[in-house]
Amino acid sequence: MSTGTIEGSGAVVQAMGAPVVIEPILVEPPGPGEVRVRLTASGVCHSDHWAIRHGNWGAPFPMLLGHEGAGVVVDVGPDVAGIAPNDRVVLAWGVPCGACASCLRGAPRKCGHAWSQPSRIARATTGERLEGTLSLGTLATHTVVHAAQAIPVPAAADLSRVCLLGCGASTGVGAAVNTGRVWPGATVAVVGLGGIGSAALQGARIAGAARLIAVDLVAAKFELARSMGATDTVDASVEDVVAAVRRLTGDVGVDVAIEATGVPSVVGQVMAMLGSAGVGVAIGVPPPDSSVTVDWSGGSGAAYPNKASLLVSDGGDALPEDFATWFGWAVDGSLDLDSMVSREGQLTAPDIDEAFRAMLAGEVVRTVIRIEP
Ligand SMILES: [Zn+2]
Ligand SMILES: [Zn+2]
Repeated sequence: MSTGTIEGSGAVVQAMGAPVVIEPILVEPPGPGEVRVRLTASGVCHSDHWAIRHGNWGAPFPMLLGHEGAGVVVDVGPDVAGIAPNDRVVLAWGVPCGACASCLRGAPRKCGHAWSQPSRIARATTGERLEGTLSLGTLATHTVVHAAQAIPVPAAADLSRVCLLGCGASTGVGAAVNTGRVWPGATVAVVGLGGIGSAALQGARIAGAARLIAVDLVAAKFELARSMGATDTVDASVEDVVAAVRRLTGDVGVDVAIEATGVPSVVGQVMAMLGSAGVGVAIGVPPPDSSVTVDWSGGSGAAYPNKASLLVSDGGDALPEDFATWFGWAVDGSLDLDSMVSREGQLTAPDIDEAFRAMLAGEVVRTVIRIEP
């Protein structure tokens, strides 16, 4: 049952490029098909930083920051089935909306995420409506989301870890198992060992990759990458990454090469690492107005003679039913989320700013913000 408007607080970004400010917010009861959630933890993702700099995928500012959260359902709106108050949930922006062109033609894994529920959250100071990052808004004490975005979590799972499956971990794992369809015995390269790349590495290992080449500019990340399943590492600060991957594979190339950097030139690099009929997977959100150059018919690794594919993975191309499997991997330890949480912080502007700084400096895989009641 609804309990009226809740006075909470959250990380507000007034306009594109503006600083993060923790402010009082008013969180209204959920409408039809919606749930209201008290958040307990939220990761800080590259896409939060991207949204501050470049815009919230078409939604207006001010923005309630965050899209990688977990918490407990407070109440549910009319016409909600299968989820109830006190359920523990991860909020997943990357589940199908059921309404976009891809969903309507029966391709929900390529959903355009056309979430259309109205904002239920306002700034307490001005009354302005707040739009959550990627329709969620998880760096807050409370938020309201579509019921389909609230995925029930098993009792054994730690919300401060499985919150990463709201974005980074599901994006990386899904890029390997859903988009790249890594198969047992495959040879795989992962370029970029942040939160998403670390999860892609683990997804590829769980899917049975026999050879797993981890690539990054920061050599300090390689020990963790090896613990997550990397069999080889390439230091992109000292080696040409395409030449190194081709050398490591006897110039055969890899079956699946996953880009987890958001740097457009890396897309061309992963395509040039591929062997015959190889699959390049691009995950990172590129800067606006980017273009990619692919070697089409030149030397080793040229895309046309290789019969190569390039696929864009949108949030890991996930369906709601994937999450039960992934929560199971987190609980049984095959998906090591604990090692991905490099640091923790509180719901304060300095802690969120520090999380961005450390992420951009390559010092952390993830910072998780703990949200107290
Ligand atoms: Zn859709
Ligand atoms: Zn994200």
